[in-house]
Amino acid sequence: MSARRPGFPARLDSAAPAAPPARAGKAATAASASVPPARSPVAQPARTPATLEPVRGLGLDSAAVRARMVQRLAAQGIRDEAVLAAMAQVERHRFVDTGLAAQAYEDTSLPIGFAQTISKPSVVARMLALLREGEIRPLGRVLEIGTGCGYQAAVLSQIAREVYSVERIRGLYERAQANLRPLRLANVHLILGDGMLGFAQGAPYSAIISAAGAGALPQAWIEQLAVGGRLVAPEVTAQGTQALVVIDKRPQGLVRTVLEAVHFVPLKSGLA
Ligand code: SAH
Repeated sequence: MSARRPGFPARLDSAAPAAPPARAGKAATAASASVPPARSPVAQPARTPATLEPVRGLGLDSAAVRARMVQRLAAQGIRDEAVLAAMAQVERHRFVDTGLAAQAYEDTSLPIGFAQTISKPSVVARMLALLREGEIRPLGRVLEIGTGCGYQAAVLSQIAREVYSVERIRGLYERAQANLRPLRLANVHLILGDGMLGFAQGAPYSAIISAAGAGALPQAWIEQLAVGGRLVAPEVTAQGTQALVVIDKRPQGLVRTVLEAVHFVPLKSGLA
């Protein structure tokens, strides 16, 4: 597919300068084969996370719509300023199809192809705020299960030192690469693989987040979580619904907290 993502609804684009050509050369993302094993300890003070340069060609229009989205998130109870700032920064409309761009800042999940969805902004914000309430601050290396279109990975890149994101569907992995390339986020590493196995090369992680609902949380995630680290994931309950689960890995053992009901696509094993 084309690496070019849609601009925000055109009426306001006329006020903005023309978009620069996509820069060739260094890609923002890396395939598994080229991801170097992480070296530094997870709780080491973070260097500043990569900063998104504003993408020219969109003008202030989408920023204004995003600012309203962020105001709504704050009104819904998201208090974490870093999460709100990251969500104000990342252009969600660039991660969905042109026909859906106008809905990109509504609080709704949207189809991203391959029968998968981009999570709704309030759920992304809630989960990232929960990650930041864990013991390890600022966030060092974070593992995301379910890259999808790459949106949440881009938001994570603003609040974590390194982001390792695993996707099992090749078409989505490639779509995320294309979506993220123009953003040149050097701290985001995309991996095509089965996230049920985690991604041992990046472990231990200060946080793990899953965007797909597991029947039972895979043991690999617990193993790859640093002591002091926090896992946030949807889990299928005995009733067959899903709930958001937080696991804190403490020196004394795991502390598990079950939060509100959620609705995510299922976690599946193997590649597709
Ligand atoms: N964070 C994504 C949300 C994508 S939906 C975004 O911002 O768009 C959840 C994703 O999890 C889907 O793309 C699905 O293919 C993926 N997924 C499901 N099981 C998986 C597994 N075992 N390993 C990796 N990805 C998985």
